[in-house]
Amino acid sequence: MALPPGASPGPDTKNHTLTVGDVTITALTDGSVTFDPRALFPETPLEAWAPYYDRFPEYFSGDHFRNNLGSFLFSSGGKNVLADTGFGPHGEMLGDPAPGELIRDMHRKGLDPADVDTVFLTHLHGDHVGWNMREDADASQPTFPNARYRVHEHDWTHFSSEEMLDGPRGEAMHRSVIPVEKLGLLDLMDGTTQLAQGIEAYHTPGHTPGHMSLLISSQNQRALLIGDIAGSPMQVTETEWLYTPDWDAEMGREARRQIIERALEEDATVIGSHLSYPGWGRIITWEGRRYWKALGE
Ligand SMILES: [Zn+2]
Repeated sequence: MALPPGASPGPDTKNHTLTVGDVTITALTDGSVTFDPRALFPETPLEAWAPYYDRFPEYFSGDHFRNNLGSFLFSSGGKNVLADTGFGPHGEMLGDPAPGELIRDMHRKGLDPADVDTVFLTHLHGDHVGWNMREDADASQPTFPNARYRVHEHDWTHFSSEEMLDGPRGEAMHRSVIPVEKLGLLDLMDGTTQLAQGIEAYHTPGHTPGHMSLLISSQNQRALLIGDIAGSPMQVTETEWLYTPDWDAEMGREARRQIIERALEEDATVIGSHLSYPGWGRIITWEGRRYWKALGE
């Protein structure tokens, strides 16, 4: 299937900032990776995705997913909060080489890693922590030299266990999370935490034990950063399909249902790590079903 012109995720093809009251949000990308959906949805046949090809043309390359690796910089009250640090410049993700674009993308958008005050990690999967530490120069140094790094304590406990460190998730932990903790830069959260004016992290377990989302509220406007609660735009509609990256499948489904309800009730913009670049949209109802619809389209 040919992709329509302009469908590529990229910094220059679309507007990459959004304001929610007094909060400015900049969409960042570490690039995108292409893979067979059955790698993450083993119970869903390829044809089941076909009805979404027209709705999300930028998300498909033929019958494969083309998944954005999104990060977001939230600026509020003189503070900069970076949500997630991408897959990073090493190895491959689901068979696709790491694009490793995040720091270049920040520079392209006039942002300096030294200006980040807080690195908020929605969870500790490898595609959300990849640029925590520098790899371009001195790998013993954090990429964001003036930042504290924050994550829910349940994710730290879960992913830093000996069993996890020895397993397939261990490599990203050893490379990108353990060094941050060793340097004394990691602050654990045990529940709802204000990160900056109008920016609050809260616990949304299911995808991982300590997965957190952000509620942005300012001047009567709201947005929700949902991390990987929906790991693709289609999951806003197909909330029940088994998604193997979820740590607890049923809690993952419940978290999806709840955050979609919340977005509708509170008229909130929905921002997600793997929603199509730049990653923000609204929940709409169409012929009795709910869909994520990118803003500005
Ligand atoms: Zn992810």
